[in-house]
Parts: sequence; C-alpha cells; structure tokens
Amino acid sequence: MPLTAARKPAPEQGLGAMTGKRYIESLKDGREVWIDGKRVDDVTVHPAFKPMIDELARVYDLQNSPKYRDAMTCIDPESGQRISVSWMFPRSEVDLKKKRKNSELWNEFTWGQLGRSPDILAPYIISALHLKEAFSAVKHPRCDFGENLVNYYRHCARNDLFLTHALGDPQVDRSEQTQNEQRKVREDEEVALHVVEETADGVIISGGKQLSTAASHSNECYVALSATFAKRNDPKCVLAFAIPTASKGLKILAREPVSRWIGSWGHPLQMLDEQDCMLFFDHVLVPWDRLFMLYDPTPMVRMLGAGGGSVNFNFLGWSNLCRAYTRMTLMTAVATMVAKAIGVYEYREVAAKLGEMVTYCQVWEHAMDGVEHAAGPTPNGQWTLGTGRGLHIWFAQISGRMTELLREICGSGIIMQPSENDLANPEIRKYLDKYMRGKDVDVEYKSRLFRLAHDLAASSFGMRQDIYEYWHGGDPNRNRINLMRSYDQSEMMGRITDLLKEPLAHGEVD
Ligand SMILES: Cc1cc2nc3c(=O)[nH]c(=O)nc-3n(C[C@H](O)[C@H](O)[C@H](O)COP(=O)(O)OP(=O)(O)OC[C@H]3O[C@@H](n4cnc5c(N)ncnc54)[C@H](O)[C@@H]3O)c2cc1C
Repeated sequence: MPLTAARKPAPEQGLGAMTGKRYIESLKDGREVWIDGKRVDDVTVHPAFKPMIDELARVYDLQNSPKYRDAMTCIDPESGQRISVSWMFPRSEVDLKKKRKNSELWNEFTWGQLGRSPDILAPYIISALHLKEAFSAVKHPRCDFGENLVNYYRHCARNDLFLTHALGDPQVDRSEQTQNEQRKVREDEEVALHVVEETADGVIISGGKQLSTAASHSNECYVALSATFAKRNDPKCVLAFAIPTASKGLKILAREPVSRWIGSWGHPLQMLDEQDCMLFFDHVLVPWDRLFMLYDPTPMVRMLGAGGGSVNFNFLGWSNLCRAYTRMTLMTAVATMVAKAIGVYEYREVAAKLGEMVTYCQVWEHAMDGVEHAAGPTPNGQWTLGTGRGLHIWFAQISGRMTELLREICGSGIIMQPSENDLANPEIRKYLDKYMRGKDVDVEYKSRLFRLAHDLAASSFGMRQDIYEYWHGGDPNRNRINLMRSYDQSEMMGRITDLLKEPLAHGEVD
C-alpha cells in the first residue's frame, strides 16, 4: 500500500511549499509557448500571461504568510517537510476538513474563477494513488507504473508543483465515434497522441492534445485519457504520464487572451485569465519513471469509472466544489447588488430570479454537506468525499442559467457603463453624475459594480468562464449517459414490476 506509516521515506527532499518568487523563477525555463503567431521568450513578463502568473504568485505567498500558513500548509509525515495542503494525502476526516478550508481560501483569493488552479490539479494525482496496485498490475519490463505514480506524487508534493492536465484528442474528425459505442475513437496516428518508439531512456511520443488549461504557466503536464476514451483500438494511443512543461519538443499554443482592461478598478476579475492551450508533442521523450500507464487502459478505466464501472468521480474533491460555490455566491451577490443599485430589487419578477439564484447556492450547500457526510476511507487509507458525480454534471447546466439570470437582471447596464477614464474626466463627469448614477449610489460605485457583472456574464472573459463550466468536466451529455448507465434503479424497477403484476389492493391492510 502506498503512503502508509510503514513505508520508508523516499530519498528526495523537495523545496517545500511554493513561494511567489520561486514560482515565477520556475517558469523561466525555456518552455516553448506560442501566442498570436509569435514565440514567447518569457511568460512571466509577457502581457498575456503576467497578470495571471502574478496572481498565483500572490496566493503562493499568502500560503506561507503567518496568517494563512497553518490553514494552507502542513507537515508531510513522510519527509517532515512543510508542504501545501493541496498536496496533502488525506488520512482522516480532520484532514478532509483541512483540505476544505484550504480550497475555500484558494477560491476566496481567486474569486472562484480558476477552474485549473494548483489546488484543483493536485487531487488528480492524489486520487490516483488509491489505485496504485492496479497501475502496478500492468507489467512492463522497464518500470513499475504504480511505483512511478507514488514517486511522482512525492516529487510534486515536496516541491509544490503546479500541474496542468490534458486528456482529449484534437477536434479534427469525430465521425468515427457513434452515439452508443464511444470506444471507436478515431485513431489517426498523425493526430492522437501515440508512442512512436521505445528507447532505453523512455518512450518517444508524438501527437496533439486538446486542450490544456494553464499549460503556459504550469510546472508539469499530466497527460492521460478521458474517462470514456480510455479504451482504444490501437494500444499505442494508450498512455498516461507527466513531464515538465519545458520538455524538449513540447509546443504550447495559447489562445488569444480573453482579458482586457487588466488592473482596472471596474474589471477586477480579468487578471484571472487562466489561458487555454493546445499541446503539440513532436517526438517528446517521456522517461520510464514518468509513465503511469502504457498500452493497457485498465487502471485508467477503473480510476475514472468510465462507462459505468467502479465510480470514483469525486477525484476533484473539495477544490472544484468550493470553486463552484464561490462562483455561484459571487454571481448571486452581484445580481442582488445590481438590482438594489437600480431600484428593481422589490419587483416580484426580479426578486424571483434572485430567489432562483439563491436556490442554486443553497442546494449546493446541501450537496457539499452531503458529500462530506458520505466521506470515508479507501482501502489504502485515503479519506475521500462521497461521490459528487451528478453534482458536477448538474453544475454544467445551472452555471449557464445563472449567467443568464445575472444578464437579465442587469438589463442594458451590463454593457452601457462609463470607463475609469470617463469617470476621471471632469468635462464629462458632470453628465455621468447626473445620468449614469443609480438609486442612492453614485456613478463610480454603480459603474464598477456593473462592470464586475460584465466581467462575469458579458465580457469575453465571462463567456470563456461560461464555456469552461459547460465543457471542462467532459461532454455533459456523455457524462449523463454514463451516470445513467451506472445508476442503480433496480429496487424501484422491481417494485414497479410487482405493481404491474398485481394491482394495488385499495383499503386492505395486512
Ligand atoms: C475552456 C475549456 C477549458 C478546458 N480545459 C481542459 C483541460 O484543462 N484539460 C482537458 O483535458 N480538457 C479541457 N477541456 C476540454 C473538455 O474536456 C472538452 O471540451 C470536452 O470533453 C468536450 O470535448 P470537445 O471539446 O473535443 O468536443 P467534441 O467532443 O468535439 O464535441 C463537439 C460536439 O459534438 C458532439 N459530439 C461529439 N461526439 C459525439 C458523439 N459520439 N455522439 C454525439 N454527439 C457527439 C458534442 O456533444 C458537441 O456538441 C476544456 C474545455 C474548455 C471549453
């Protein structure tokens, strides 16, 4: 069993919980990032990446500050080092509560806008650990995949590394999939990531991955297969591994930034553009000790519970649940403040829309209590939350609804607001004070509030967040189908079958 008290500590001592300075320095490593037709020399100073990187550096510093150190870091019992709670292996209910608090803080600091923060990606590796034996059961003469996973976890935890992850194939031609037989994935070797050859040092791989949020400013790329597509016809396309983001031959294409007006009072969220990237692997070496799966998808299928197998979809744990909650409560509070700022708060229709938003927040609170209540240990001693599988799918659908409600409550004010420079210009300011103020609030307050709503529900940043919420967990329709196929309805169906055999006997009591 991995990570029990009996295990001998691995020799590697890391650098401990990440600091802001160390994080920024770690990104100056020659990585090959492209944006808008140009190669980026240094992501830490490029305007498309710097604001996000600086924000993360700020949070890394907070986790080491006297105020948050005890909540966001802990002592790793194996190495004795102080590590981030995001990388803590939870061994008890108390540990899970600590992880919740840490995730709440990460999301408080980043306003629930980072779908792929370091705190969200660490659990991908931690949750795989409980299947260490399954990974080891797939044999290869060059390495033990399960041991690789455990060692990789230690390396990440002790150095507090920031991972990105990439699961999907490039969106080139999906026509070989059918509605019901999703295993028949198109396996054009020029497109899907595949092994080119084995060498003494590792495997050489080529192919693309769509897509990988935050790859541009991550330390490591964790690459695997998505739940439904872990089974392939061609074993060469079956692999899971993690390599440094600066690996030779790995080319990262970042999309156009969705943020404008960075640093403006009125657009506080736009510095949280976490970037989305394509990954192109051109004969990249994956060392043997960085491979977790090769040619045989069994462990990944078990881990992700694809197609209704064993379900462990709570792998995202607290981080994603807390993030969704912060995002929901933020949108609801902004909508409420907007309604008050223009005097529509008392109208029945508006109040009902706000009530609908509050309902979603409260259902989420109940659900978080529920997954906490259903928490328990896995056979290797890892404490894990109860399943949140349906919850993640549901969020894909209500997130869009919340955006819609916020837009409806705002009316045209969500787009028609003066800028900070307009506010600062005395010549025009007198008109703004008169015609663009709100109910009992001045134009400065009102325009900043509405521009925050614009960040959330109308800007290119807000639209990207909305699209992210819909797709990031995989195709919601496919997820619903997988959930439906694994959902046990036998008891009720049995009762109905009995009912169909014999009519209800009205008024008869045994
Ligand atoms: C902003 C954003 C960030 C993301 N970040 C990450 C990340 O960090 N890491 C990562 O691994 N992934 C990430 N993803 C990818 C995400 O997991 C995928 O978008 C999702 O799995 C859907 O796949 P796709 O985009 O290739 O769409 P497609 O699968 O190409 O779907 C396109 C359309 O075709 C339909 N369709 C496709 N196949 C079928 C079929 N067999 N039968 C019927 N209809 C079908 C779909 O329902 C959809 O309407 C991100 C996505 C977004 C939008």
